[in-house]
Amino acid sequence: MENLYPILIPVYLVNCFFWGFVTKTIVENKGYPGKGWFFWGFLFGIYAMAIALIEPDMRAVREKDKSDSVIINSGGWKCGFCGYANSKDTEICRCGKDKAETTAILSELQLKEMMKKD
Ligand SMILES: [Zn+2]
Repeated sequence: MENLYPILIPVYLVNCFFWGFVTKTIVENKGYPGKGWFFWGFLFGIYAMAIALIEPDMRAVREKDKSDSVIINSGGWKCGFCGYANSKDTEICRCGKDKAETTAILSELQLKEMMKKD
């Protein structure tokens, strides 16, 4: 049995590197720095990969923020109830609140913020 170790140890290490790279690649594709994740994959193999798979995709989140600011910069408005970015031609948000209602809520909140500061 003991003469299997020269084979098993390299196989084990190749396996560790494999899961390290798989985990690192998954998180990098989701927009995270992969450096630390390589070691998680190296140490915990498929378990680290499973966690990497359920991490939220940061690139999708950033894309959404970017498209929201494009909508708002072109005259759109952000709903004060659900936070959804509506185009300037939209009068009623997808949550059912209309533009006047949500902008009134927003200015009321801003007013309260200003009152707090004084
Ligand atoms: Zn809304």
